[in-house]
Order: sequence, then structure tokens, then C-alpha cells
Amino acid sequence: MDFELAEEHRMLKDLVARFVRDELTPLESKTLAREAEGRGLGLEPEDHRRLDARSKELGLWGLDAPEDIGGSDLPAMAMVGVEEELGRTITPYTLPPDSPNLRMLMATVNERQRAFYLEPYVRGERVSAIGISEPGAGGDPAGMTTTAVRDGDDWVINGRKIWISRAADADFTILMALTDREKRARGGITAFLIDKGTPGFNVLRRIPMIGGAYTYEIALEDCRVEGWKLLGTEGAGFAPMQLRLGTRRVQMAAWSVGMAQRALDMMVEYAPQRVTFGVPLSERQAIQWWVADAATKIHAARLMTYDCAWKLDQGRDVRLEISMIKAFAVEMAYEVVDHAMQTFGAMGMTRELPLQQMAAKLRLMRIYEGPTEVHKWNLGRNLLGTRR
Ligand SMILES: Cc1cc2nc3c(=O)[nH]c(=O)nc-3n(C[C@H](O)[C@H](O)[C@H](O)COP(=O)(O)OP(=O)(O)OC[C@H]3O[C@@H](n4cnc5c(N)ncnc54)[C@H](O)[C@@H]3O)c2cc1C
Repeated sequence: MDFELAEEHRMLKDLVARFVRDELTPLESKTLAREAEGRGLGLEPEDHRRLDARSKELGLWGLDAPEDIGGSDLPAMAMVGVEEELGRTITPYTLPPDSPNLRMLMATVNERQRAFYLEPYVRGERVSAIGISEPGAGGDPAGMTTTAVRDGDDWVINGRKIWISRAADADFTILMALTDREKRARGGITAFLIDKGTPGFNVLRRIPMIGGAYTYEIALEDCRVEGWKLLGTEGAGFAPMQLRLGTRRVQMAAWSVGMAQRALDMMVEYAPQRVTFGVPLSERQAIQWWVADAATKIHAARLMTYDCAWKLDQGRDVRLEISMIKAFAVEMAYEVVDHAMQTFGAMGMTRELPLQQMAAKLRLMRIYEGPTEVHKWNLGRNLLGTRR
């Protein structure tokens, strides 16, 4: 049994750590100021272009994309190290292409979709979104009511989607719809590729979320999609969608480890410097226990994430492990960041330190890709044998 990352994966992790330290961390004060001014969490276009150029030069694009289209085809074990390092910064930059939709496309595209969607996506030329959630179906996507009905060679989609990240900007959205109302998750949900500007794909509103994030509400009104844009097989959209969600959940566990480690590092640096009542904070048991608990739980979450990634690479069924790490790592990081904010006192409440941005990000992460309680419910009913 070996709990270390392989040498080449550790070297990649170190490279990403340097990219974060040299390129992303210096942009944090600008990112925080922009968000505090109400301009949302984002990057200035010139910074985005520079980060794209630098990360491409370092060979950090397409890390888990297929080799024959310019990727490095790296396993999950390599990616968790990469994501942990990216999690350390609040600068909102994703190495192209974002892994979850990549995995879903890789599992489903035909030759034509591969050329038109997957290849440009891997080359970082196209941005994607995923439309699953609806006003009446979030944590339970099988309850969706958006329908796709065949009309000649086309499909006509009607319904509502909400909380969709990037929906207004994405070049294409992978949209989940019912093609069989009876079968639902068991053969009745299908994925479609909808291009930006398709008539009937109407962005109703941009919804401001906490921490400067945005999501969108979408109405699908007789949205006509050509037959070849059905992704995968009719009725078989649920499994690749779960593959996609699983990829994001592992990524989120790794981000959480990175965020918690950053918060712990900040606490460890600050506590000896701050004197209250004649004694440094580092000599107070309250702070010592927060530091001890944080180090212990980060260690546990990191090993759990490595274990899950390793099993994933072995082709094992990791559905329960994914629920465990998504819930445990996100909640753990939320607690560690909260303790760090408390340690910093009023300074921890400012929009000048990254801690509050990390807290907001983690607060959102406790909801999306399945709320914590849904993952625990999933684990409980599987362990108790009460799953219907
Ligand atoms: C920042 C952000 C980005 C998002 N981006 C996207 C996106 O790009 N695409 C997309 O499709 N969706 C997206 N979502 C939606 C997200 O996936 C849903 O919000 C999430 O699945 C929860 O659904 P809901 O909000 O309808 O909550 P509900 O399903 O109504 O649940 C509300 C609460 O009820 C409790 N609960 C629910 N079910 C159970 C249960 N079985 N056992 C115990 N407790 C339960 C939980 O505490 C839960 O938080 C995003 C959400 C956020 C916050």
C-alpha cells in the first residue's frame, strides 16, 4: 500500500502549485476588489488571455483529454493533485477544458459530434454548460419535466431550467430532457447539444448568487434541435450525466482539500503573531484545537480523495466513495475556513482577505452537485438496504 502520489503526478502537482503561486495568487487582490465593487467573481479579459497563454505554454491544457486530440489522457490520480493546487486560490481560473463535460462528451459523442463539439472543446475554443436542474427538480433530477419530442428528424424541447452556470455565455449547453415520461431515470432521460443562439433557447434572467457568482434561468420554448445533436443514445442520458457529476464531485473534494490547507496555513502563520490579553493566539487551546482538527481532517479528506481517484482509475464502482468525499471534504473545508475567519477576527470578515470568498464558494459547493444531506441520504439508504 502506497499513499503517495506517483513521481510524475507529484511533479505535475508541483508545476500547478508554481502556476498558482506565480500567476493566480497575485491576481487575488484584483479579484476581491472586483467582487467587492459588485462586478461579480471573474477575470478581466486581458488577465484571462495571459493566464491561458501561460498555462498552455506550461502544458497544462487538456490534461485529462484524449491524446489523439491533443490531450495528455491523465488518470484521476493525477487530476486530484492538480485540482487540490487550483483549490488553494480564489482567482477564478479553470484549466481548459473543464473536466466534467469533457468526460460526458468523451463517453457519448459520435464522429460528427466529436469533430464539431469535443475537439474544439479540448482545444479550449468552446465553452460549455450543463442544464439539468429545474424549478421543481434540483437534488432529484429524475423528477425533471422538460420534454423532448421527436418531430421528423428533429427534436422539439419545452420546459424550464434554473441555476445553470455559464448558460448565457456557453457556446453549447448539454441539456437533459425527458424522452419517456414513464421510464424517467431508467431509460427516459436523454442529453441534447444546444448551440448558443438556437431559437427557443431563451435566457430569462441572470441570478446573482453569493460570493459574486452567477447562474441563469432558461426557458425552452419549442426549441428545435437537429437529430444528430442527440448526445449518446435516446433514453440513456442518465448514466453519462452521473459520470459527469461524479467527475465534478471528485474535483470538488480535491478543491476543498486545497482550500482548507490554505486556510490552515494562514491560521498557522497568523496565530503566533497576534497577541491578545498578553498572550499569542497560538498559545490558546481554542486555536490549537482548530489547527489540530483542521490538520487531521485535511489529512483524512486528502487520503479519501486519493483512494477514490485510485479506485476510479481501476474501473471500480466508486458511487458511495464519491458521496462520502463530496459531503465530507466540502463540509470539512467549510468548517476549517470558518475557524480561520474566526482566528483572524475582524480582518477575517473583510473582503480584502480571501477567506470570505472561500467561505462563499464552499457555501455554494454544499448545495451544487448534490447537497450534503442528499449524499448522506444516498449513503445511508445504501448501507441500510432501504434504497428503492
Ligand atoms: C452555484 C450553483 C451552480 C449551479 N450550477 C448548475 C448547473 O450548471 N447546472 C445545473 O443543472 N444545476 C446547477 N445548480 C443546481 C444544483 O445542482 C441544485 O441547486 C442542487 O442539485 C440542489 O437542488 P435544489 O436547489 O432544487 O434543492 P432541493 O432539491 O430543493 O433541496 C433543498 C434542500 O433539501 C434537503 N434535501 C433534499 N433532498 C433531500 C433528501 N433526499 N434527504 C435529505 N435532505 C434532502 C437538502 O438540505 C437540500 O439542500 C447550481 C447550483 C448552485 C448553487
